[in-house]
Amino acid sequence: MFNKRGVFIIILSFCAFTCYLNIPKEKAEVVNNISVDAILHPYFQMYIEFLKENNIDWDKKQTIDIHIAPVLTNTNILGIAKGMNYDKGIIIWINPLFIKLPEADRKWIFFHEMTHDLFNVKHDATIIMRSYHFATTEFKFCNAKRKLGKYLKEIKDVNIQRTTNRWNQRKVLP
Ligand SMILES: [Zn+2]
Repeated sequence: MFNKRGVFIIILSFCAFTCYLNIPKEKAEVVNNISVDAILHPYFQMYIEFLKENNIDWDKKQTIDIHIAPVLTNTNILGIAKGMNYDKGIIIWINPLFIKLPEADRKWIFFHEMTHDLFNVKHDATIIMRSYHFATTEFKFCNAKRKLGKYLKEIKDVNIQRTTNRWNQRKVLP
């Protein structure tokens, strides 16, 4: 019925299919579509580590687009979280001035914009979300970062609580 070539093709297709089925589950959860400027990448990494250390979950399937934006040169805007309230992507533009700033200032700006974008947090919700003023220190940044961790965990807990309450109410409804 099949010639040798036909059998070979059938075997090959079967292998391809089983290989497809054997793709490890974690692979599907790996962040995809990342485009982060090299100069900004260490800060991005720092933020992801911070979330991990604080057990704060986030949607890892989002498109990530974080760049130095020449269009912000000579403006007083240090960064824009263009992906705020858009939950399918993280889009952040950073002023080229960033490169000339001290380390603590850079971290402050980056954490501020990431928090706007990833968790839709508004200004003044916690210290790091206050409108930025120059010349922060490593000590002030660490303090603000610790408070941000606490704040993000609290808003996550409130969301989980709301979902659970909704679920419980649904269960008792006829
Ligand atoms: Zn802001």
